[in-house]
Amino acid sequence: MRLRSSIITVIGCIAAILLLQGRAANGQNADWTRPFPPVKIIGNIYWVGSYDLSTYLVTTPTGHILVNTGVGATAQQIKASVEQLGFKMADVKILTATHGHWDHVAGMAALKKMTGAALVVSEPEKELLESGGKSDFRFGSVESSWFEPVKVDRTFKDGETVSLGGTALTAHRHPGHTKGATSFTTEVRENGKTYRVVIANLGSINPGVTVTGMPAYPGIQQDYARTFAAQKAMTIDVFLASHAAQFGLHEKYKPGDAYNPDRFVDPKGFMDAVARLEKAFLDQVLKELAAK
Ligand SMILES: [Zn+2]
Repeated sequence: MRLRSSIITVIGCIAAILLLQGRAANGQNADWTRPFPPVKIIGNIYWVGSYDLSTYLVTTPTGHILVNTGVGATAQQIKASVEQLGFKMADVKILTATHGHWDHVAGMAALKKMTGAALVVSEPEKELLESGGKSDFRFGSVESSWFEPVKVDRTFKDGETVSLGGTALTAHRHPGHTKGATSFTTEVRENGKTYRVVIANLGSINPGVTVTGMPAYPGIQQDYARTFAAQKAMTIDVFLASHAAQFGLHEKYKPGDAYNPDRFVDPKGFMDAVARLEKAFLDQVLKELAAK
């Protein structure tokens, strides 16, 4: 009995530590599903995501675009945020994503049903969305990363735009993290100024990935290298990304803060993030080559 209660105490402690570290028992980050009120970022771009997982609402006179959906459970939060801003889910005409991992697209099937919008993703990401994550080179065999498969209506190539109602999001293929990972750029006019906005898919490396090449992704090293070079050559003002933590949303904004179009202007933050991740990539390449 005493042994059993000790084991229960130990399990309880581990659970408490995991919760304190912001990790739910299933390995997901608790910040992924923690609700967060919507934020007007700049012009027609709003944050309607959870505390950490980005969902961007881009509004236009003829309908709206949603970029990313979070995990499936966040779909209802996204709906609540869109409606809190005074917009209608029925006016969402296009759904798209920075990359096809479950923490950014697992809610896509639910949001597609909710809105009837067309799902438009980069060409290499189509299979990933339609297989519900099973075709991913790293997580394809990891059941906990699967999600409800969803039909892709259209695809775009590198440099093409996702356009609606006078707003164009230019797609930049930034592969490595996934084969079709995409950053989007657009320009927003506000207070007589033009702001260049990036929704960046940064080149982070997932645990278990061999960056010098994997059977399911032989060209991964060249892709990552090309992505870092392309991102270093970008000139941007407003820095946004797939996760709040990547661009410091919670350092730059607290609920209740007044709207300020300059709040998320951070070209240095973008360059620093790219440089930090490129260094991590190059370090990992050296480590892998030394181990071979
Ligand atoms: Zn990912």
